[in-house]
Amino acid sequence: MAKTYDVIVVGAGPAGLAAARAIGENGFNVALLERKPDPTVMDRACGATLDSANEYLHHDLYVTNPRDKRLAFPAHGFSVKYDGPWTDLYSAHIYSPGGKRIEMGVAGEQKKKGSYGKITSVLDKEMLLKSMLDEARGYSVGVFPGVNVDKVTADGDGVTVGGSGQRFSASYLIAADGINSPVAQMTGFNESRAYYCQFRAVAYHMTDVALPEPDACYNITGFVKDGPAMAFVHKRAVNGEYIFIVATLHPEINLKGAADYFMQEAFCAPWFRKAAILRTFSANASCYDHINEPCRGRVLVTGDVGSTQELEITGAIISGWKAGNAVSLALQEKRFGLETTAIAKYVDWWQKDYADTYSADAYMKVWALPFILTEPGEIDYLFGLVKEPLPPSFNPYNMAKNMGKALRKVIPAAQKERPELFAKMDKMRLPFAEIIAEITRMSRPI
Ligand SMILES: Cc1cc2nc3c(=O)[nH]c(=O)nc-3n(C[C@H](O)[C@H](O)[C@H](O)COP(=O)(O)OP(=O)(O)OC[C@H]3O[C@@H](n4cnc5c(N)ncnc54)[C@H](O)[C@@H]3O)c2cc1C
Repeated sequence: MAKTYDVIVVGAGPAGLAAARAIGENGFNVALLERKPDPTVMDRACGATLDSANEYLHHDLYVTNPRDKRLAFPAHGFSVKYDGPWTDLYSAHIYSPGGKRIEMGVAGEQKKKGSYGKITSVLDKEMLLKSMLDEARGYSVGVFPGVNVDKVTADGDGVTVGGSGQRFSASYLIAADGINSPVAQMTGFNESRAYYCQFRAVAYHMTDVALPEPDACYNITGFVKDGPAMAFVHKRAVNGEYIFIVATLHPEINLKGAADYFMQEAFCAPWFRKAAILRTFSANASCYDHINEPCRGRVLVTGDVGSTQELEITGAIISGWKAGNAVSLALQEKRFGLETTAIAKYVDWWQKDYADTYSADAYMKVWALPFILTEPGEIDYLFGLVKEPLPPSFNPYNMAKNMGKALRKVIPAAQKERPELFAKMDKMRLPFAEIIAEITRMSRPI
């Protein structure tokens, strides 16, 4: 016998928690189904930076409010509970394989502005999940951990889902089950999406990393035997800890080997000489172009489910909150015998605010450079030409634009000194799918 609710939300990440809480707060009955036995324990890598503090992203400029333990989204008009620590970071340092650095913001200058010089705030994601879960429970959300949804039946009137020996039925289903969403796969959302590649990562929580500028985020390109990988390292919100992530799009790269390369052989190896690993995480995400139509019948998708590689924590929370309110309004419309307009408005919002604003191609192109300049020395040379700091930014789209601008400025020098490299750079104009066509052929979605 299926348990009956107004709405089922699958996935208790930031998106699902925001959706379920909105539905509960609106007075409807909602079941939140999560495959993990404890929804607050992370089993997947995440850097936990909130992108971005000083520039609009996802049409908002979030506010961290430690006084009242809130993370607020004033443009959207809501906040979520966050009862954990914060760390502010003030610049992004982007390194070439040989250690040539491009700075996005000068940390020393930014810090003089106090909290308003930050480019990102880092939170403790497990504390965020715990705080959001507490808040959802406070609005009578029925939380079902340990339910791995593996069956979805939907028709014009409602949905039934099953998993781990339990069945649930409801008028609407919100799929918030993350980037490799089984719900999206089962309900046909992936059928018309173009597949790019797998994004794989290994991540360590560490102590005693000796960063040259502790209040900056680091992004380092490196080459290992089979191809390029990127390392990211920054302070965690938890005092004295760091997160170190090594990620790649190349399916043949051994991630542990790549992490060892950055920690033991690359120019940044001295930063890790005394470092100790506390916890290890991994991730393997199938990257498609984003979902343009986030609703099919009674199923809505939200958060990473509909994104290319990730919607980030902020985008996941905002879209989850939007989806939760959309189904609440649709239920309210139905009860009063009114025409259902709320779902179409969600679709419209998703298309305008996400799909049409943030190009999947631009997001993925952040990974393109080492697939074009395939010799470490080529990237060293190019980065070495950029002497001036770039604007302080942690908005992935603006960071890429600012990098593009800076590199275009040094093109005349490169054209003269290294014409062969200049010719290669022209490939950056191609769509990302063409740049990594070979990698796509070698990869398989999970
Ligand atoms: C390596 C890496 C680093 C990142 N770093 C950052 C960062 O620094 N800052 C940032 O903002 N974002 C970062 N992200 C992205 C961020 O983690 C996501 O954008 C965000 O968590 C998306 O939230 P979500 O709720 O949509 O999905 P998720 O957080 O993935 O949550 C989905 C939930 O659904 C559950 N689930 C999955 N399948 C089922 C099923 N069949 N049945 C029931 N439950 C299911 C999962 O267990 C999970 O709890 C990073 C991602 C990766 C991979």
